[in-house]
Amino acid sequence: MTNLTLDSDTIAAIATAPGEGAIGIVRLSGPRAVDIAGRIFRPGKRPDAPPWQPQSHRIYYGHIIDPDSGRVVDEVLVAVMLAPRTYTREDVVEINCHGGLTPLRRILELVLAQGARLAGPGEFTRRAFLNGRIDLAQAEAVIDIIRARTDAALRLAVQQLGGGLSQRIAELQQRLLGMLAAVEAVIDFPEDDLPEMELNSLGRQASEVAEEISGLMRSAFAGRVYREGLRTVIVGRPNVGKSSLLNALLKESRAIVTDIPGTTRDIIEEYLNIDGVPVRLLDTAGLRETADPVEKIGVQRTRQALEQADLVLVLVEAGRELEPEEKELLNELDPQRTILVVNKVDLLEEADGQAAVSGGGRREEAAGRAPVRQVAGTADDWPGRVVFISALRERGLEELKKAILDIVHSGQVAAPGEGVLVNLRHEQALQRAYLHLVEVREAVHRGVPLELLSIDLRQAWEALGEITGTAVAGDIVERIFSDFCIGK
Ligand code: GDP
Repeated sequence: MTNLTLDSDTIAAIATAPGEGAIGIVRLSGPRAVDIAGRIFRPGKRPDAPPWQPQSHRIYYGHIIDPDSGRVVDEVLVAVMLAPRTYTREDVVEINCHGGLTPLRRILELVLAQGARLAGPGEFTRRAFLNGRIDLAQAEAVIDIIRARTDAALRLAVQQLGGGLSQRIAELQQRLLGMLAAVEAVIDFPEDDLPEMELNSLGRQASEVAEEISGLMRSAFAGRVYREGLRTVIVGRPNVGKSSLLNALLKESRAIVTDIPGTTRDIIEEYLNIDGVPVRLLDTAGLRETADPVEKIGVQRTRQALEQADLVLVLVEAGRELEPEEKELLNELDPQRTILVVNKVDLLEEADGQAAVSGGGRREEAAGRAPVRQVAGTADDWPGRVVFISALRERGLEELKKAILDIVHSGQVAAPGEGVLVNLRHEQALQRAYLHLVEVREAVHRGVPLELLSIDLRQAWEALGEITGTAVAGDIVERIFSDFCIGK
């Protein structure tokens, strides 16, 4: 169980992004939110307006007044939402002012002077969790929504906020409780031994739940891809067209990029949006190096990027035999997650075209459909996917994207189930629950004492509970919310 406490402070923070904007919001939550706002807010246009007695879910026009000087700080709209129908389930007041740093900071200072406390990162959402409005998986979905890079990622995160994963977990927990009840009934009344039949059924149920859990674990990879992007590296010799390909892809499919606080931005990263799948191009700076490729492959950074990659695009030139280092590289890579991209097919076609013209024949092989033999053995031995493109002419890009999506959707990176966005934390908890259930299944076969069965069932139940937060240590919760921005 959580050992988190909920204090009765009224918290305040600037809820909008720093910098200039049309509107900025100072948000308050807690028992004194209305009282504190009321001390600095003058409703309406007249200085002699009657005392402010706001109703819930209304917006009030007026001015923020510095109570010390009596001076007007800003013209504002104040939204009042009284508990419990609010984000935090507490009274919430949002002061909408002009979106500059000075008005926002002045208003924040005033509410702090009136007794509010500055909110910590994610403290509003933390309160929503502690007050039982959302569970932990839903709270995590809030960050996923804020950081979603594609519509598909956003849709998944919104479903998760709606309780997609939470429901699945609750169902599994319910089934474990049923099993636990059956076992404990017998432990409590040892004279009615658990009949053979029930034991078998217990083993079977443990297998079924374990199977479902492993299904959820399989979607963890997809969850990461939708949250963080498919880690993709473009690698190849100098002048093979890596930058040209990158630019051609970005031109069509650049995804929205958000800065994630706490992540280093010293490597150049670009995001593509390929049919809703965020594709994160890694270490493109390193790839622009024009060092000798043999050395280059040896370069720590490239090697690291290749190791971490979900997908590697190996770029080679059409009409040219593979260089030894290219062969070596391909040998090292897993064909399941590597695409051999043969670039500059236009050059080949021109050469062929001329030959064809002089021979009076007809040539219209499109990029992407050029036969393998055309690249003179370049791709013949490669067991993985091959795509022919011309980065310069922007041809074959659709085929390339299709090949990327094939990899995404085949096996490993299956599209996650509806509303299921499993993250690393969830995956680890699922893994533990799974192992306990495997233990239960084995124990049933070995005829282990029921007490031990019940311990494993209970631990499986608790591991699942960590996902939604019904059974989770306080420090884990704190870590999750510290990842949020202040004001959320
Ligand atoms: P990088 O060193 O691998 O990043 O290669 P670049 O993208 O800088 O390309 C090297 C040269 O090849 C440039 O002159 C490009 O215009 C040219 N190039 C790239 N792609 C193609 C292509 O598909 N066809 C042709 N004909 N030239 C290309």
